[in-house]
Amino acid sequence: MLLCAKKKRSVPLAEQRYDFLTPAARSELMSKIGGRNTRPEIVVRSLLHKIGFRFRLHVKGMAGKPDIVLPRYKTVIFVHGCFWHGHSCAKGVTLPKTRKEFWTEKIARTKERDKENIESLHNLGWRVIVVWECELKNPLELAQRMEREILA
Ligand SMILES: [Zn+2]
Repeated sequence: MLLCAKKKRSVPLAEQRYDFLTPAARSELMSKIGGRNTRPEIVVRSLLHKIGFRFRLHVKGMAGKPDIVLPRYKTVIFVHGCFWHGHSCAKGVTLPKTRKEFWTEKIARTKERDKENIESLHNLGWRVIVVWECELKNPLELAQRMEREILA
């Protein structure tokens, strides 16, 4: 049984989460993640959809052009590649062997811009969730985190 955000919850969230994705849905999702042509953003969209959230994509005129916008929850989601956006995980901290300085500066600028975008969205009353590419390795945990933060 899939959760539906619109449904009134009679069972505590923690218990519902237990069967939040059916084994079939989960393995389908896992296989998608392993697929070569699957962009992280599409996986995140699919996860959100499965747990019952409806959203809009790439809303123009918003700072940073968030990948996913949930107007009903006044929440936006950025799906960030660990390398490009300088995540603190292994993939984010490993620089290419050549042109280290170039990459260091480029990534630092991206991080600065991300920070500014998040700040201006916060100032307009939006909640901002950043999903890192490496989190897709554990879709169940990621889905739970998104659900928790969207409904917070
Ligand atoms: Zn990462």
